[in-house]
Amino acid sequence: MQKKKKELIFLGPPACGKGTQTNRLSEFLGLPHIDTGSLLRAEIAKESEEGKIAKSFIDKGQLVPVELVARIIKNKLASKECENGYVLDGFPRSLEQAEQLEEINKEIDAGKETSFKAIYFDIDQQILLERIIYRQSCPQCGEIYNKKFKPSKVENECDKCHVPLKTRADDNAETAKSRFDTYFRETAPLIDFYENKGVLTKLDAMGSIDEVWERLIKIVNG
Ligand code: AMP
Repeated sequence: MQKKKKELIFLGPPACGKGTQTNRLSEFLGLPHIDTGSLLRAEIAKESEEGKIAKSFIDKGQLVPVELVARIIKNKLASKECENGYVLDGFPRSLEQAEQLEEINKEIDAGKETSFKAIYFDIDQQILLERIIYRQSCPQCGEIYNKKFKPSKVENECDKCHVPLKTRADDNAETAKSRFDTYFRETAPLIDFYENKGVLTKLDAMGSIDEVWERLIKIVNG
């Protein structure tokens, strides 16, 4: 029997741990990790036209225009690497994007059996700001560190790739505040949207990385 295509999306405020867990999940399931934030930062690094537009919104902690993100996502989701499913992190981020995702899936999934789950990282907001301002990541493998809570073995160096770690330009207190405002205004309504469709599971995202991972795996396999 053919396996169902596994489509997983993730909701939760900035720095709720989605990036760390979805990176690991993608390796575990052998499915691609599609992360809109990283895709947009790659466009910025290339200094493409799309990157230039994206930068002006990212620097302010606002959502990048929907057409730009939807184009990038559609190309990715329709590609061969996603034929057995995907771990989608950072999209959708508004009701409009959620509707776009439904359209995209309808188009690319014709005749396929699919399993769609939205997983909501439920977390106490108090700890999130410190996670953001001390966050670092590896530009090569995407591993996420935190100077305070999860430091690399050698300061500012990836444990696996041994390349210098990067701090995201938008990981400062001021931009973080507006990213939270954007999240509560535009993205949080998706929790009800997916709950009403009966595809939402709430994940308790408090605790260590391994504790959250154990809970996540149960949901994904359940
Ligand atoms: P992230 O790496 O997921 O925290 O995203 C960083 C920034 O990229 C966000 O603050 C937005 O400006 C932009 N971004 C990421 N995903 C989206 C999306 N689905 N729609 C619009 N903007 C996005």
